[in-house]
Amino acid sequence: MLALTVTPRVPKSIRLVEVSEPLKENGPVLVKTLSVGICGTDFEIVDGKYGEAPPHQRHLILGHEAIGEILEAPSKSPLSPGDLVTGIVRHPDPVPCSNCEVGEWDMCQNGLYTEHGIKGRDGFCSERYRCTPDLLIPVSPKLRRVGALVETTSVLAKAWEHIERIGSRARWKPSKVLITGAGPVGMMAALLGVQRGLEVHVYNRSSNSPKPELVQSLGAYFHTGSLQDICPDADIVIECTGVGQMVFDVMKMVALNGIVCLAGVSSRGRKLEIDFQSLNRTLVLDNNVIFGSVNANRRHYKFAVEALLKADIEWLERVITRRLPISQWQAAFDERPLGDIKTVLDFLL
Ligand SMILES: [Zn+2]
Repeated sequence: MLALTVTPRVPKSIRLVEVSEPLKENGPVLVKTLSVGICGTDFEIVDGKYGEAPPHQRHLILGHEAIGEILEAPSKSPLSPGDLVTGIVRHPDPVPCSNCEVGEWDMCQNGLYTEHGIKGRDGFCSERYRCTPDLLIPVSPKLRRVGALVETTSVLAKAWEHIERIGSRARWKPSKVLITGAGPVGMMAALLGVQRGLEVHVYNRSSNSPKPELVQSLGAYFHTGSLQDICPDADIVIECTGVGQMVFDVMKMVALNGIVCLAGVSSRGRKLEIDFQSLNRTLVLDNNVIFGSVNANRRHYKFAVEALLKADIEWLERVITRRLPISQWQAAFDERPLGDIKTVLDFLL
């Protein structure tokens, strides 16, 4: 079968190659891949900056945002051939740590977890893959064309769950949300904010793309220009860019008792001079919480599927700005076109 592979830590080693059929030891459920989304983590892996092959293997099959159709499942499993599923990216560590033991592997304490297409486990960007039923999430047929968005949405479902848990430390009635960055992460953060009945403001550096229209059609506000002027008293900020200056600026801007969730992974190495004393003074005197959030567990994937089912499917289709057949995978990793939000590779061979 065909698979998109890399040799981790070797830049430009990405290839579409013939590989052997998925090993039975990976699980009794055989899934046919329909589409795979490409994200910033894939770019880092392709650039040789990140990624780890499975044990005793040189290559890693890419892909961690996928929708697939079940070809084979054990008769006692809740899954049946023809069902659509998304594979959960992270598998619990084998020890397991206290969080993995209770299914909260997104909060793994020892770092020994594995991740499909990222860390020590083949991804989904192959014609077929095998998995265990507990690490597959059923997806409604209504989401067939947009199911590659489930994984990104699950990361935001976790972020929102944690924001709400932190908010419950006191009586808290948030009304305004600021989201920085209108890529796929920012878009899904905005969707979940609107679904909670909040006033959602999305900031993006440029407006020359479908992003403003997509944000506005959600019922949210799109902004560009100076960040300071747009939403100075947000109760919640979800920072999705990972840009150092932006991270610093939103920490200073959040309202009294406000919460800043950092969901954007920064690239390493850029130094920034900041007045940390004055930032610390503001955070303390305003009861602010700044926290990071990554990954998702089974509960968050379920929330994500529910949220996408409540959304306008046509809107979700527009978030996928580019669909390419797997044969044109190279175009997905070339320079991204202006205004690109999410690129998806389709496995309709
Ligand atoms: Zn763990």
